[in-house]
Amino acid sequence: MQTTIDLATGSLAGEVTTSERRIADLAGFFADEAARAALPQDTIVYRVQMHDKEAEGTPGGLLFGTSFVYPGKVGDEYFMTKGHFHAKRDTAEYYFCISGRGALILMDEEGNCWAEKMERGTLHYIPRSVAHRLANTGEEVLAVGCCWGADCGHDYASIARTGFAKRLREVDGEPKLG
Ligand code: MN
Repeated sequence: MQTTIDLATGSLAGEVTTSERRIADLAGFFADEAARAALPQDTIVYRVQMHDKEAEGTPGGLLFGTSFVYPGKVGDEYFMTKGHFHAKRDTAEYYFCISGRGALILMDEEGNCWAEKMERGTLHYIPRSVAHRLANTGEEVLAVGCCWGADCGHDYASIARTGFAKRLREVDGEPKLG
């Protein structure tokens, strides 16, 4: 079966698996836990479609996916992905923005944290040993294409434990990392 990507929306069709994260799945990730708990718990925050031609962990393999982060905020903090380091730190990744507006939030192992603005067509290289998370700062779905090594692994636990050093919030109507 031919797998396709809709270049306008990032939507994958064919040999694809999908997963999603709802507000209920993200306890503890946002600064304002009371605001998170007060939102409808079945609200989808993000969805990931994957073209997984290789099993996770296959040395030398590649995986491709599109992440869709929905518009919304928890308090003043934009909807975002959990974020992760790669379990195998010595592995990089490419992201590119297909539609919507947002930010790629990055943090190295020393806790230095910065962000790259995303809009249709921006290309983002995530260096080795740098944690990464997407946030939607716009009013449409943020769709981001991703290509990573099948054996890089995902270390979500470090982020669940310590978070990112900075958060992306709306301040006076504008995204601000602080
Ligand atoms: Mn990654």
